[in-house]
Amino acid sequence: MPALHERLSPVLDEVVRRNPGELEFHQAVREVLESLGPVVAKHPRYADAEIIRRLCEPERQIIFRVPWVDDAGRVQLNRGFRVEFNSALGPYKGGLRLHPSVYLGIVKFLGFEQIFKNSLTGLPIGGGKGGSDFDPKGRSDAEIMRFCQSFMTELHRHIGEHTDVPAGDIGVGGREIGYLFGQYKRITNRWEAGVLTGKGVTWGGSLVRTEATGYGTVFFVDEILRSRGESLDGKRVVVSGSGNVAIYAVEKVHQLGGTVVAVSDSGGCVVDESGIDLDLLKQVKEVDRARLSAYATTRGVDYVTGGSIWDVRADIALPCATQNELDADGAAALIRGGVQVVAEGANMPTTPEAVRALTAAGVTFAPGKAVNAGGVATSALEMQQNASRDSWTFEHTEQRLAEIMRSIHDRCLETADEYGTPGDYVAGANIAGFTRVADAMLALGVI
Ligand code: GLU
Repeated sequence: MPALHERLSPVLDEVVRRNPGELEFHQAVREVLESLGPVVAKHPRYADAEIIRRLCEPERQIIFRVPWVDDAGRVQLNRGFRVEFNSALGPYKGGLRLHPSVYLGIVKFLGFEQIFKNSLTGLPIGGGKGGSDFDPKGRSDAEIMRFCQSFMTELHRHIGEHTDVPAGDIGVGGREIGYLFGQYKRITNRWEAGVLTGKGVTWGGSLVRTEATGYGTVFFVDEILRSRGESLDGKRVVVSGSGNVAIYAVEKVHQLGGTVVAVSDSGGCVVDESGIDLDLLKQVKEVDRARLSAYATTRGVDYVTGGSIWDVRADIALPCATQNELDADGAAALIRGGVQVVAEGANMPTTPEAVRALTAAGVTFAPGKAVNAGGVATSALEMQQNASRDSWTFEHTEQRLAEIMRSIHDRCLETADEYGTPGDYVAGANIAGFTRVADAMLALGVI
């Protein structure tokens, strides 16, 4: 592991000491601090004001009981979380994740990443994240509704359009946001559109929000390629995952002339050499809510359960599933297959060892907090539309998204140049994300 700047290593020690066992949070903090050495050396004011220590401590952490009744009439119990991490730039903003792996350390890592990601968008949004260890897999629609209602019965007192604005993440899509919004409306007696994003387009949602994370990921890749005089045309791409991010990444790759040859889920992957059939993928995942094996059966291709998607040869790899899904072995396989660009559609899907291996092999690596920021950026556009009681066309909203992704990309490269690490998207994203929020914190005083 690379050594940290002498003023940053005690900060990491403190984070580890104060947050025992929260390994993903430690990993996310270390990854940012590794980039900040040149910033602290150039501008001691940040360390002098303890900005970095303050950034690593959430402003507020809420943990609550979520009881609900299943279809058999049994009482079920889950734990709910909302970590309101930093509000220097705007109301806390970030998704809700429903997955059995969720615990405080996961929510904190995601909330911490969200601070820098949201800062990079240039829009007025702070960082937060929430969720529950509830497992939606195999649950009926009525069970999902009762869980969401119970979750919101507690969460409602902590959120608001000027306070904290949740959205979706793994396990939370349009259906769940609908049930959450309905319960918020009922409890508060307020039709407060700006309290949640990812709403349905007929009741306050924004066009392009569903597609935004996947589209934005591919716009970012397109900018990387453009900066070296290339394009997606003719490129072979693998996309891990088959959820909302992956589906719309596949769609945009195909629109821009590339071919996605493999997607995956937690059980395996499908390799479809003629290109993933997007209509079928959407039918299986969004309409039938089925497993990817159903795609393979219908399409007559193999559902590969041994090995990993990273064994599939590709020019570009987009990890779009979940944290730490691309490890050193996966990176070695991608390098053997001649990969040129790895860009993270998910949050922290690449382990530190894998990032080091890819970088050492000359592969361009772009981190999630920059690459997948299109989702939350479009959430901020949804908030703008809600605030002005307006709704924009698909074309206009997609145009705004593309401009935001271009500006994030360019700022990453300019910042990497300015701090002496040209072409390093990790350093560029961390430093550019950090300085905007750090300057706001300095301006607001010790609060
Ligand atoms: N969960 C998404 C993310 O990781 C989106 C959050 C939002 O739209 O608030 O950025």
